[in-house]
Amino acid sequence: MEVLEYDLVVLGSGLAGMRAALQAAKADDKLKIAIVSKLHAMRSHSVSAEGGISGVLYTGESDSAKLHAYDTIKGSDYLSDQDAVEILVGNAPGEIKLFDNLGVPWNKGEKGKIELRAFGGMSVPRTAFAADKTGFFMLSTLYDTLLGMPNVKFFHEYMATKLFVEDSKFKGLFTIDMATGDSVVFVSKACIIATGGFARIFDFTTTAHSSTGDGIALAYEAGMQLKDMEFVQFHPTALVPSGILITEASRGEGGYLVNSKGERFMERYAKSKMELAPRDIISRAIITEIEAGRGIKDKRFGNYEYVHLDLRHLGEAKIDERLPMIKEISMKMAGIDPSKEPIPVRPAAHFTMGGINTDIKGRISAGARHGTLGLWAAGECGCISVHGANRLGSNSLSQCVIWGRITGNEAARFASTSKKPSGNRIMADIEKEEGRINSLLERKEGENPYAIREELRRTMDASFGVYRNSAAMSRGRKKVIELRKRFKNIVVRDKSRVYNTNLRDALEIGNAVELALVVAECAINRKETRGAHSRKEYPKRDDRSWLKHTIAQKSGNRVKITYSKVEITKWQPEERKY
Ligand SMILES: Cc1cc2nc3c(=O)[nH]c(=O)nc-3n(C[C@H](O)[C@H](O)[C@H](O)COP(=O)(O)OP(=O)(O)OC[C@H]3O[C@@H](n4cnc5c(N)ncnc54)[C@H](O)[C@@H]3O)c2cc1C
Repeated sequence: MEVLEYDLVVLGSGLAGMRAALQAAKADDKLKIAIVSKLHAMRSHSVSAEGGISGVLYTGESDSAKLHAYDTIKGSDYLSDQDAVEILVGNAPGEIKLFDNLGVPWNKGEKGKIELRAFGGMSVPRTAFAADKTGFFMLSTLYDTLLGMPNVKFFHEYMATKLFVEDSKFKGLFTIDMATGDSVVFVSKACIIATGGFARIFDFTTTAHSSTGDGIALAYEAGMQLKDMEFVQFHPTALVPSGILITEASRGEGGYLVNSKGERFMERYAKSKMELAPRDIISRAIITEIEAGRGIKDKRFGNYEYVHLDLRHLGEAKIDERLPMIKEISMKMAGIDPSKEPIPVRPAAHFTMGGINTDIKGRISAGARHGTLGLWAAGECGCISVHGANRLGSNSLSQCVIWGRITGNEAARFASTSKKPSGNRIMADIEKEEGRINSLLERKEGENPYAIREELRRTMDASFGVYRNSAAMSRGRKKVIELRKRFKNIVVRDKSRVYNTNLRDALEIGNAVELALVVAECAINRKETRGAHSRKEYPKRDDRSWLKHTIAQKSGNRVKITYSKVEITKWQPEERKY
């Protein structure tokens, strides 16, 4: 076992983590910063972001920060904290320009003006993009920049399994170096958790296999609060049968959604916005069409029913210029050339609005009056809350980089003025965690964790999908509780130490089971329909009883639920029509 001392540890190397590290390294070049990631940094899920990043680059034409804020708040079904949204919209343009300076090849028009495309729920086009590979270009630009900074060190393929927190203070992080299997403990003054979302607890999902919510589960286990975990976004257009995302930019560029009768059915659900309504509304529309018998089925695409995303009228040249990856994905994964045939799509779990409860600066609160000293969360794992009950497309990348910058600054300031930590104080905790991992490897008989994973994902799809109802959710919760019990007796068959992906998977499955129970409890508890949480028995939003955030905290074996206030600054809740 090795103990490494740093001033700041950034857990996660997606857009939020790398942006945070860049900011902290710039804020104080004497700080020793570690970026710890269970994947190679460039394999972080952010690399797959496709359509773009939101931000009002050109005010005075038809757009303004105020309009961006209004769209975001309305899109969130009025659950977002409006002070946080104002920070988002105020800072997004600066971040897009920063990435321009760092070298992201934004699509540009004449005179080098960054082009903007339309996205769902946005009143005007305000999404900057680099073809349909925006995440790849933003992440690689950050990675290249960080490689040149002597005070930043990457720890690729180190799996974090435990946060050490004592008296509401961050003490350290337990990791396994995947290449050797050795335990490595990071002791530092400050830590930013940037471990991404948890949509992989579902079966049909657009997200990376690594999006298992580890950082959220670690924080929950360490006593931190989680917020709004019932709100899981289903993206309307995932390719059937693989679930790979067909970006909303396809509709932003003019694509149509069509049912088996050849109707552009969005006319029935969002007459003014049509295919550019927010995702919760389009996902419900697709499932409603399928349930009404207007879905499409074709053996070529497995057993799923779906609808068509038709891009043919855009023409080959536009598809090649603006949506080259969508063309490649459709051809390779479904044998479809989108300039000649419509693409089979249906909703898939895509993004998790809920996460670790933070204040407006990304600081984590364990419920203590002054929060947990030395811990922040940025990116999809944190709930500030900007997205409320439903995120608008392209607002996540802005959220990741803005709160990457904010938490990077805050953590750097904290680390610059704090005392050096000591590894000795947490020796007992370290030994306990090593013991837990060793006992998993030593157990000879038990249940196959992959069976638990499969049952868990199917349960989440069946019980906590686009439409939810009490009976199905209760069945789902019962099943998750059973899986949680069975998980205690799993066996890790691979006993080796070097690249033991069987062990890593088992640890991820344990995290996923815990988070699934939190989602289940929070979803059952919220008796209304708001944004992505759509309940058949309670089909309306109920501001009188439910205009509040759900806060979940571990209490023994149970999930304790309390509430917190939604911050309303300028925009009073109103009926959400598109
Ligand atoms: C296919 C797809 C396309 C998208 N396109 C867009 C888009 O165009 N615009 C937009 O705004 N949003 C988009 N989104 C959403 C957006 O991409 C994500 O919300 C965002 O990239 C999340 O970034 P992050 O930095 O929070 O986390 P991630 O990029 O998910 O990174 C998480 C990091 O944490 C590390 N990690 C996790 N667990 C551990 C552990 N136990 N130990 C060590 N390290 C760990 C991982 O290795 C990784 O480095 C898209 C989402 C999907 C699924």
